[in-house]
Amino acid sequence: MNALFIACSDGRIAASIAALQEKEEQADADRLLVPGGPLVFTRPGLERRVALDWVRTQLEGRSIRTIYLISHQDCAAYQRALGGFGFDQQELLERDLRRVETLLENTFPDVEVRCFVIPWRENGRGPGFGNAEPVED
Ligand SMILES: [Zn+2]
Repeated sequence: MNALFIACSDGRIAASIAALQEKEEQADADRLLVPGGPLVFTRPGLERRVALDWVRTQLEGRSIRTIYLISHQDCAAYQRALGGFGFDQQELLERDLRRVETLLENTFPDVEVRCFVIPWRENGRGPGFGNAEPVED
């Protein structure tokens, strides 16, 4: 076990997360599932400190070398935080992922952080969440 997946607790993306874990051969990875996933690390003050402490706890005494940061489109936690979906979801999610990646890499220098977005697809075989897609640096 050498990875930690940080993602939203939304059950609709569970299959997409499981598919990514399988693809990355990380079926036994630790998981930190909270509303909005990486969103909590963009919060100021106490919320961020508590979230960083969760990660510290999960890393302690383990051989975790990779953190997977996973955001998803159509996220109710983002909708609530921002007061609606009147924004470019993909752009905002990617911006937050890069910010949180920098925060985590600065806080935990031994860990590599990788970022993904799970897309919501309206067409194809009916609407639903697709496979997690990597966010390029
Ligand atoms: Zn969500």
